Amino acid sequence: MEIFDNAPGETGPCQACGACCATSRNWPRFTIEDDAALDLIPAKFVNGTLSGMRCEGERCSALSGRIGVATSCGIYAMRPEVCRTCMPGDPECSMARRRHGLRAL
Ligand code: SF4
Ligand code: SF4
Repeated sequence: MEIFDNAPGETGPCQACGACCATSRNWPRFTIEDDAALDLIPAKFVNGTLSGMRCEGERCSALSGRIGVATSCGIYAMRPEVCRTCMPGDPECSMARRRHGLRAL
């Protein structure tokens, strides 16, 4: 059985993708996290208004690696909720992958 995970950094298709982490600067925003959870995210990865992840262009600053080849999330264990809810093969995933020239799962 293939193990799916919903962010770059562990086993599954995301490890060789990262597309959803580099599709919109408005996407990796904070939603239902409490202060304790947000405090775990290093300040260098947080945007100026403290509303979400800092992005460089459309790419989250916590993402390392090459999209579609090998990527990882620098804050995997404490990543925002939106990052946990994007699932391989769902509509958001397919849209993000298409934008990077990757086939839908
Ligand atoms: S776009 Fe899909 S496969 Fe790629 S990292 Fe996001 S959830 Fe995973
Ligand atoms: S925090 Fe991690 S999982 Fe979320 S967008 Fe950034 S690199 Fe991707």
